[in-house]
Amino acid sequence: LISVKDYFLDIFVEKKIDLEEQGAKVVYDIDLEEDFVMAIDSKLVHRIVSNLIGNAVKYNDKPNLNLRLQVKAIEGKEHGIMVSVSDNGIGIDEAHIHQVFDVFYRGDDSRSKDVGGTGLGLSISRQLVEAHGGTIWAESTPGTGTTIHFTLLDQHKEVNHGEDINY
Ligand code: ATP
Ligand code: MG
Repeated sequence: LISVKDYFLDIFVEKKIDLEEQGAKVVYDIDLEEDFVMAIDSKLVHRIVSNLIGNAVKYNDKPNLNLRLQVKAIEGKEHGIMVSVSDNGIGIDEAHIHQVFDVFYRGDDSRSKDVGGTGLGLSISRQLVEAHGGTIWAESTPGTGTTIHFTLLDQHKEVNHGEDINY
């Protein structure tokens, strides 16, 4: 169990430094208490966030990439977090927004513009998120930008809830 706030701060600072060297603008917001702890697979989260940021960089047509990275606690009976990565890139049209998580799906723009890729990043991200009890989804306005959200649930916590029940 680690401080989720410190954990994301490390990742986001690293990404901010890296991307701002390439001319992007990065803001982050980690809306968690310092003592918010959760079992997190650190390699997994790093991999998903890197996939999403890689897409934000690739699918950008503006003079400057603006990236917003957010984490907040999930309200309700489940203990977990929601992570969001927002960009100001080309966006995804309504007709294809559900397909972006499919294996080998690549948008028309991506294929025609010759930006490298195999169409696996988001499908792998979805598998990783779902294997940890979370969900991933996209919101987008073509021409304006995209936000990918994903949740991660504290699976230990859920098991404990069950064990706490006295018959
Ligand atoms: P790979 O990730 O394997 O290098 P890829 O980036 O094409 O290839 P995914 O990451 O799975 O594959 O994304 C699938 C498609 O969804 C992309 O080809 C692109 O059309 C669209 N897409 C993904 N992220 C964004 C984004 N941030 N903005 C606009 N379009 C996006
Ligand atoms: Mg990708």
